[in-house]
Amino acid sequence: MRDESISKIFEDARVEGRNFLFEHEAKNLCSKYELPVTRFTVSKTEDEAIEAAKELGFPVVLKIVSPQVLHKSDAGGVLIDIKDEDGVREGYNRILDNVKAKVPEAQITGILVQEMAPSSTEVIVGSTKDPTFGPTIMFGLGGIFVEVLKDVSFRLAPITRTDAEEMIREIKSYKILEGARGMPEADQKALVDILLKTSELLMECPEISELDMNPVLVYEKGAKIVDARIILD
Ligand code: ADP
Ligand code: MG
Repeated sequence: MRDESISKIFEDARVEGRNFLFEHEAKNLCSKYELPVTRFTVSKTEDEAIEAAKELGFPVVLKIVSPQVLHKSDAGGVLIDIKDEDGVREGYNRILDNVKAKVPEAQITGILVQEMAPSSTEVIVGSTKDPTFGPTIMFGLGGIFVEVLKDVSFRLAPITRTDAEEMIREIKSYKILEGARGMPEADQKALVDILLKTSELLMECPEISELDMNPVLVYEKGAKIVDARIILD
């Protein structure tokens, strides 16, 4: 049986009439399934954001939290690699200005302050719901690999460990994960683990109609989910 606190995450969004989870809500949900997400705090003022950044440790990333903003960078709502307190103060206001200009009707819930994950190979884990067969799971490399080359693998959930291993190996760009072209060798076990836990999350949460972990940064040891988007049924 799934935890009560999980239903609460979905209810909170519904009560506000939102058909998607904020990134921090989606990451809270991911954490319930022990998925490796970046640490974060939602702040409501500049001073709170600075406190949060000091707590998390610099550099940090700032992101808009608004019910009217689903794609945060499109609204000028993401600033990465902020190195000090002045940067947080300036970035906080810059994001508010950007969002006000791009999405004038946007209500501001807060600013998400989060740990900056070191750059590395980017992968994507996604899901859409098939009307007949239920949730699917998708895996691919990030950036042009998925956008231009459509180099991805799919399965229906739930998946087994063997399915997860095959999903990773069957993409055409697999060699990149093995460390081709000077890329760091990817921790494939960590990716298998993410796929399995995502499958479990999808099976236990029928409220989810779409999920997009994009990007997931993968290292020689471990992986970090830096963005998670969840659309509700
Ligand atoms: P969007 O809603 O536009 O998809 P993201 O949260 O994915 O916003 O942020 C945009 C980009 O910023 C990401 O694709 C990633 O390259 C970078 N980014 C976001 N969060 C982090 C983080 N915590 N650490 C490192 N890079 C990040
Ligand atoms: Mg993203």
